[in-house]
This record gives sequence, structure tokens and C-alpha cells, in this order.
Amino acid sequence: MQPDTRGYFGEYGGRFVPETLIPVLDKLEVTYRELKEDTGFWVEYESLSRDFSGRPTPLYAAEGLSRSCGDARIFLKREDLAHTGAHKINNALGQGLIAKKMGKRRIIAETGAGQHGVATAAVCAKLGLECIVYMGEEDIRRQALNVFRMQLMGTEVRSVRSGSRTLKDAINEAIRDWVTNAHNSYYLIGSVVGPSPYPLIVRDFQSVIGKETKKQIIKQTGSLPNFIVACVGGGSNAIGIFHSFLNDKGVNLIGVEAAGKGLESGMHAATLVVGSKGILHGAKSYLLQDGEGQIQQTHSISAGLDYPGVGPEHSYLKDSGRVKYVAVNDEQALEGFKLLCRTEGILPAMEPAHAIFYTSELAASLNKNDIIIINLSGRGDKDIDMVAMTMGGGK
Ligand SMILES: *Cc1c(COP(=O)(O)O)cnc(C)c1O
Repeated sequence: MQPDTRGYFGEYGGRFVPETLIPVLDKLEVTYRELKEDTGFWVEYESLSRDFSGRPTPLYAAEGLSRSCGDARIFLKREDLAHTGAHKINNALGQGLIAKKMGKRRIIAETGAGQHGVATAAVCAKLGLECIVYMGEEDIRRQALNVFRMQLMGTEVRSVRSGSRTLKDAINEAIRDWVTNAHNSYYLIGSVVGPSPYPLIVRDFQSVIGKETKKQIIKQTGSLPNFIVACVGGGSNAIGIFHSFLNDKGVNLIGVEAAGKGLESGMHAATLVVGSKGILHGAKSYLLQDGEGQIQQTHSISAGLDYPGVGPEHSYLKDSGRVKYVAVNDEQALEGFKLLCRTEGILPAMEPAHAIFYTSELAASLNKNDIIIINLSGRGDKDIDMVAMTMGGGK
């Protein structure tokens, strides 16, 4: 679906930003509309996608996982094999090229766990752009290795000491920098969130996942899948794989959010499952807020899902009923993680481990010829320390 001319998906999206950013967003929108028709731009994007990012990623028949869960056939879309270890590179590369076309050689980004920061740092090194990444002091401590990766690639990581010293504080700082330096700086947003036209731009670059998947599943099985399951933080890997299938009514689409320590505990990040409508980081969408509209503290074992908002298009797809959103807790995600390690020899990131657990239960209720595709959004190397700690030394 396309947003309307004001950047809304139904009642969600829009631009809730300081006045000074409206012309900046207007310019971005016009530029992007022109680039969409520019064959040269897409030739460059596709060539770098192939040789720099490693696309297309495989669609892999997970026979060991399938056997252990029942009769259905489970496939994995291997975004874990993309450069820098997750789907984030698809978007960072595309927006890096837009910035270059706009003549903006200074890139601003923010990152929580560091995955988007690392992808952006890699793209900036490749394209010769200056890169500043804002990161909460607490996240810098927890993700020291990703900080060092970014620095090795020439990025300046700026520590944010306000608020809870995590992602949402880093976003506030990045927006402050952007308001001041928009004339020469490009804000490279990492998921399908933020003011219009970002949710559309990020979705377009991530939709390569679903386009490839559709061709691959038809080639490998002769049919469309019955289910596609993807984890939802801001929602970019999920919309990326769902988008090509929205009009295929027989394909059930399932987004899996983080139930953290349980929905009743209040310590979770299940924005679509239990959140309410409001405005956060420039757009109207579902979010986690208290009765007074204060943003709630979220929790998830996976840093990538630990965010109180979600992309506006997902809010629309929830209300329309086209996508079903569910939540999986920390303990279950850890089960999913261990299951894939054991049955396939693949260490998933903790984010898609939520989708793996959900699929393992779903598969048990399906028939022999049913097909499920999981979007394996990233690899698990970044999570090994945390998993070892949780398991008590990696037993
Ligand atoms: C960042 C991240 C996510 C969550 O972001 P989305 O925008 O919801 O895709 C999921 N998986 C991995 C591996 C990530 O790095």
C-alpha cells in the first residue's frame, strides 16, 4: 500500500516535527520521488547490494528444524548472511546513496544495540561519507564490540548521558543535531519509523527481502507459502518480507513482538499487541504509554526489539487485520535460539529467535504440505555473551 499525499497509512504516520524540519522533509520527499524513477540510481543500488551486501540472500529449507517441529516445511530467509550480519544494511545502503545524491556528506544516525550503527558505519566508509552515531551511555557499555567496529570504520560514536541513557535518548540527541545541521547533514533512520517519508523509504529498500523470497519459494516449491513469520521491533524486516505478499490473501502474515518478562509484568515491548495510539518520534502510531501519555519503559532480552514505538504501516495493518501480531517472551525466545542452533547449526540473533519459537508451536498444528517462511533477520554472534550469562556459563 502507498501512503496518502500527507504521508499517512490510514490514520497513522504523518509529520510531527519542529517547524524547521518541514522543508527538509519536503526536499527529501521530492528527491526520493525523482530517484524512484531514476534507472541509474537503482543500477548503482543493485550493484552494491550484490557485491557489497551479498544479495540475494538464500532461501533455505530448514529440514532439521522442520523435522523437530512436526510435518510442515519451514524455510529461512537468510538475512543473517547479509554484510554486517543483518537486514539493516539494505536500508543503510539505500539511504547512504540518497544522501550522496542530495550532496549531504555528513550522516547522522542513532543506534541501540549497535546493529544499525554498524551497518551505517560500513556504508559511510564505502561511500566516503562522514558518520556520527549517537548511542546511549548504557548501550555503549553493553555493546562495546559494536562501538569498536564502528570506530574502526571511521565513525564517531557520541555518548548520550540524558534520560535512561538508551535508544530513545539517543534518538532525541540525533534529532537535535539534525535540526541544527540539516543544511549539510542527512539523518539516516534505521527502521520504518519517524516522520514521512522515512517509513516509505525504509520499506522500499527493505522490500527487496520479500521480492527475492517470492521468486525463491515459487522456484523451490512451485507455490506460495501458507505463513510468513517475522519479528517486529520498529518493523523494518517484517514489512520488508511482508510487502510483496500483502495482496496474496492465502499467505498468512504474522509479526512477533517481544513479550519480555510477560505481558502482565509490564516489562515488555509488545507495542501492537497491547499498546495504544499516540505520537512518538515524529509520527502517529501505536505505542507504549501510561494514562498520562508518558512513554513507558520497555524490556526485551533482544535489544533490537526493545523499543516503545512501531512503524505506522504496521499500525494500519493491525487495524485492517491483514497481519496478525503476537508476542513471545524472553524465555521462549531463548528456547527458539537454542532450537535453531541444535537443529540447523545456525546461531540466530535473539530478535528472530522470537519468530523461531512462534513457528515451532505453529508448525505442530499444521499439515504435511504446509509451508512456513521465517525471516531470519540477523545472526547471533552479538548475543552470545548475553546468552552465555543467561544460561549460566553456556551449559
Ligand atoms: C534491528 C534488528 C531487528 C529489529 O528491527 P526491525 O526494524 O523491526 O526489523 C530485528 N532483527 C535484527 C537482527 C536486528 O538487528
